[in-house]
Amino acid sequence: MTEPFGRMFLPGPTEVRPEVLEAQVGPMIGHRTPEMEALVRRIQAPLRAIFRTERPVYIAPSSGTGMMEMAVRNAARRRVLSLVNGAFSERFARIAEANGLDVRRLEVPWGAVHSPEQVEEALAEYDADTVTICHSETSTGALNPVAELTAAAHAAGDVVVLVDAVSSMAGAPLETDGWAIDYVLTGSQKALALPPGLAFAVARETVLERARSKPDRGYYYDVLAFEKNLAKNQTPNTPAVSLLYALAAQAERIAEEGIEARWTRHAAMAQRTYDWVDERRAAGVPVGILAPDGFRSPTVTCVTLPEGVTGPGVVAALRDRGYTVAPGYGRLKESMIRIGHMGDQTPDTLDGLLETLTEVLT
Ligand SMILES: *Cc1c(COP(=O)(O)O)cnc(C)c1O
Repeated sequence: MTEPFGRMFLPGPTEVRPEVLEAQVGPMIGHRTPEMEALVRRIQAPLRAIFRTERPVYIAPSSGTGMMEMAVRNAARRRVLSLVNGAFSERFARIAEANGLDVRRLEVPWGAVHSPEQVEEALAEYDADTVTICHSETSTGALNPVAELTAAAHAAGDVVVLVDAVSSMAGAPLETDGWAIDYVLTGSQKALALPPGLAFAVARETVLERARSKPDRGYYYDVLAFEKNLAKNQTPNTPAVSLLYALAAQAERIAEEGIEARWTRHAAMAQRTYDWVDERRAAGVPVGILAPDGFRSPTVTCVTLPEGVTGPGVVAALRDRGYTVAPGYGRLKESMIRIGHMGDQTPDTLDGLLETLTEVLT
């Protein structure tokens, strides 16, 4: 812990405040004890405020991908329409396939987003019972219009909508109840700014109903088991006790800031990044932003680089100066970098990175 806070701009895992890291150092407690029930109860209220829901928030010792598997195993009957616009939305499709479901992809280019009309047309042609959507596509920095897409899917009939909000939850406006999202999931190590190892999800009654009629929905990620245990402020299996201590501390910090203020801070960091891109372009350095204006994630920006400059090259140059960012994802690795301006970073800490990036790119 020699570096001061504000050097780590990966789009996950993100930098964790020292006081949150320190909160992990507590005694082990059994999971069927009053102490654990008090801890789970204490965590639920701020978590529900983050998710904007009245429903219980499931907590699993897992990475985010585990809750994607929970989503399809419990909610999908047979046919899944997967909205694909990058690596993580493609992962959702593959998880559905790996669980024996029929999957049709509604693909748009990496960096682009989906429109409600596209969803409407796809569902008119393909009788899906489930739609998967990635809210903030961390591989491209695009933000899908989840409220509109969910409404379009629901208008098609008996369809449930499963949303991957791993890199948007607690950073981008998202209304679980208000947008009638049937299932939404996230992980601890992105905009929640916790250590990796916890995953979270909320399911509506629509999903519980489907789970009840699916005896082969699996064991570890059974939504009904999570429901039943959370009603007693317990978890189905042994919880990651140390991580729950960190979560309790961080959930309280987030409640103090206020979720809307947290969204605003993320929007300000994103805007700072766009302004920096404009300034650099005006100075003759042809950087750009992959995702279209109006559909950009407030938590991660995919910056396109000038000819002759590579993603891994910029990452290495920044590392030499004490900063961490990610190269482009997969096929975009060489031509881009990704800046994760999320979690507990601030416009001030981001300025430090952007100033250094200016030096690196001249
Ligand atoms: C990071 C990420 C994931 C994967 O999460 P893990 O915690 O690594 O399993 C899934 N979806 C999105 C959008 C992500 O950003």
